[in-house]
Amino acid sequence: NSSRLLGKTVLVTGASSGIGAATAVLFAKGGSNVIVTARRADALQKVVERCVAAHREAGAQCGGKFVAIPFDVSDKNQVASFPDKIPAELRRIDILVNNAGYVVGVDRVGDISLENMEGMFATNVFGLIALTQLFVKDFRERGTGHIINIGSIAGKEAYAGGSIYCATKHALHAFTAALMREVVDTPIRVTEIQPGMVETEFSIIRYRGDKTAADKVYDGLQPLVAEDIAEEIVWAASRPPHVNIAELFVLPVNQA
Ligand code: NDP
Repeated sequence: NSSRLLGKTVLVTGASSGIGAATAVLFAKGGSNVIVTARRADALQKVVERCVAAHREAGAQCGGKFVAIPFDVSDKNQVASFPDKIPAELRRIDILVNNAGYVVGVDRVGDISLENMEGMFATNVFGLIALTQLFVKDFRERGTGHIINIGSIAGKEAYAGGSIYCATKHALHAFTAALMREVVDTPIRVTEIQPGMVETEFSIIRYRGDKTAADKVYDGLQPLVAEDIAEEIVWAASRPPHVNIAELFVLPVNQA
């Protein structure tokens, strides 16, 4: 029931493209307020415009406050100063969607640079943890809140050439599971969404801009689109307060 999202304030990381952008727009349509974050300010601004249009077209009576706050989730200082940039009327976050993440390269262990390794962990794991820390205390004090972490099939399985990315998503999985148990005595909900292949900028970044190689991974199947995962995120967020969707593993047909 999407009426449960009316007037909620949602913070989406990695919202400048792909799954995060689609999620922001869908929450906007459902009558929520949305804070969108990522590094690219211009792309975020376009997502804000899409949120405004979606909210208007849906005729939603609640929500309608949309703000872009660009920052780098892998940078400790930028994470720490981020809450001060949130407009006062949106400081009470109800739903945190930790979605920012990436993989660069399909490199064997011996070929992975330290910079690449540290970058993936800093974004996919440490940034996500730091952001969760910023809000979980407030969630406890207010007796509310929903943390939705975007994991991956790579957090359940591991593949050659994906050691670091898979390790980050396995780490996300362990962190999310432990967090869920830590808040088990509170109304806070913790969800992990584990997508299979979704056609976004993700694959192009993984193949360092080689679009042909990026598209090749979809041979033999029809990949999910960002909106498919956005729908799962919004669905999980709109369950009744006593229902916690702990995990959702979503694959395209023909991916196993
Ligand atoms: P996109 O590349 O389209 O989106 C990734 C988002 O993360 C962008 O908005 C990017 O914005 C943001 N981001 C990356 N690094 C940083 C950073 N250091 N600080 C802040 N924001 C950052 O890919 P998807 O939408 O597909 O990916 C979203 C999530 O889904 C990721 O966590 C990914 O691992 C996961 N996933 C994706 C799958 C797929 O097949 N596409 C499969 C399984 C999981 P910007 O560049 O502006 O900072």
